[in-house]
Amino acid sequence: VDRDVDVVTFLASRRHSGVVALIDAATGRRTTFGELWRAVAGAATALASAPFSLRKGHVALILSPNSVHFPVAALAAMSLGAVVTTANPLNTAAEIAKQVADARPVLAFTTRELLPKLPRDHPLRVVLLESAAGDPLPADPRIAATIEEISATPPDPARRRGDRVTQDDQATLLYSSGTTGPSKGVVSTHRNLISMVQIVMTRFRLEESDSTETFLCTVPMFHVYGLVAFATGLLGCGATIVVLSKFELPEMLRCINAYGVTYLPLVPPILVAMVAHPKPLPLGQLRKVLSGGAPLSKELIEGFKEKYPQVEILQGYGLTESTAIGASTDSAEESRQYGTAGLLSPNTEAKIVDPETAEALPVNRTGELWIKGPYVMKGYFKNTEATKATVTPEGWLKTGDLCYIDEDGYLFVVDRLKELIKYKGYQVPPAELEALLLTHPEITDAAVIPFPDKEVGQFPMAYIVRKNGSNLSAHEVMEFVAKQVAPYKKVRKVAFVTDIPKNASGKILRKDLIKLATSKL
Ligand code: ATP
Repeated sequence: VDRDVDVVTFLASRRHSGVVALIDAATGRRTTFGELWRAVAGAATALASAPFSLRKGHVALILSPNSVHFPVAALAAMSLGAVVTTANPLNTAAEIAKQVADARPVLAFTTRELLPKLPRDHPLRVVLLESAAGDPLPADPRIAATIEEISATPPDPARRRGDRVTQDDQATLLYSSGTTGPSKGVVSTHRNLISMVQIVMTRFRLEESDSTETFLCTVPMFHVYGLVAFATGLLGCGATIVVLSKFELPEMLRCINAYGVTYLPLVPPILVAMVAHPKPLPLGQLRKVLSGGAPLSKELIEGFKEKYPQVEILQGYGLTESTAIGASTDSAEESRQYGTAGLLSPNTEAKIVDPETAEALPVNRTGELWIKGPYVMKGYFKNTEATKATVTPEGWLKTGDLCYIDEDGYLFVVDRLKELIKYKGYQVPPAELEALLLTHPEITDAAVIPFPDKEVGQFPMAYIVRKNGSNLSAHEVMEFVAKQVAPYKKVRKVAFVTDIPKNASGKILRKDLIKLATSKL
């Protein structure tokens, strides 16, 4: 499709439905699609005018926890053809300064708590994501307005002032989490985002008509996962989205029950917490959970199904570079039976290649997954070298994930290439050992890291969270693994902790654990 893209048009088509688009979990305040349309179109009109004069190609930063204002800010900026970049609110001021220096935003949407994290030496205007009726605004000359003020501007259909926005224009600039290397800016287009919304709807059987689904958005909106979640709900299926600013299990349960949540996108650590709970938690009308962002073991799926037989677990596999989902399961049975990350997304080509020679490998052989589809990023921001190393001239995205595909087309993710533990001449996938450790009845969570060793290079070391009251010993943990794996995969060192550090998309922060383990050397 090569017509002008305008997210406001998607919203406009629903503006008379009366359906609630957003619910603020903290206050219970509801925003209908009509109000959301007016807020986005009004904010876009204000942003196109003085003093902002936001134009196509300008970068707008959102530095905020999840909030009902987040989608308004993102959609208003995108509708003008501006590029939305997001920052993790937990990042330090120095990390944010680095991102700002790279992305060079002209505008920042942020909260009063996060304002001090914005670097002073970069000129930009600030829109505070809060209601105008709050306390007096902080005295900071960068603050130009609040989101509520700009949203109240009467919408002007000519707001783009001649800028034509097409599907191939940039929509987002999301920075990868930096789990395995330096964080990079991923440029995605409107086409990438729209194709992803369509894929999510098809694979997870979401209806296009004003939906009866109620999503609970616990996943971070600054990450591609949360962005696609709210874009799918608001632009794709007209669902109601309950917005939770911070994940806490009791608050998540309260919202699920109070707002009749039916659909819950989450990351694996939340499933770990739900399964570890001694009694099944009350889940009201919840029928589907979607897990993504990090590996989900077959054992965790089985544990969840046993405790919550009424809830389907769906799974999505993908990267920021693939605008979220390259493969997915569309039923719990599928992933339970196989432990697979599912079937490839519609319009996807894939191959498994030898990471060294780039030669294509046959079915059931493990190698690096390469995918091609309408959602593959345009490239890394101002980094042609990294783009060349990641996307081939034919459009293949090298995922950096070690995978295999079986004869029925199911994708199995073994581990990330960069995280393999190199023991003598062997490669040990830590994810496989973590999944095995989780099958132990006295282990609630586990992480495996490479421990440096002069003789063998590296060997697997496990960090273990024991069940309450368990006296499981390091020796018992090592025995348990040794009995079930080839000798080169044995866990050779164990430490007990109360918590495994993970990032916002649910990934284990192995770098932190490696630092902890080696600091005592
Ligand atoms: P960086 O590239 O800077 O290290 P990051 O890769 O952590 O950042 P993301 O784009 O959030 O940033 O992560 C993508 C990776 O997440 C995938 O390459 C894959 O390893 C992992 N992943 C996502 N979903 C799944 C899943 N369902 N099963 C297994 N792994 C998954």
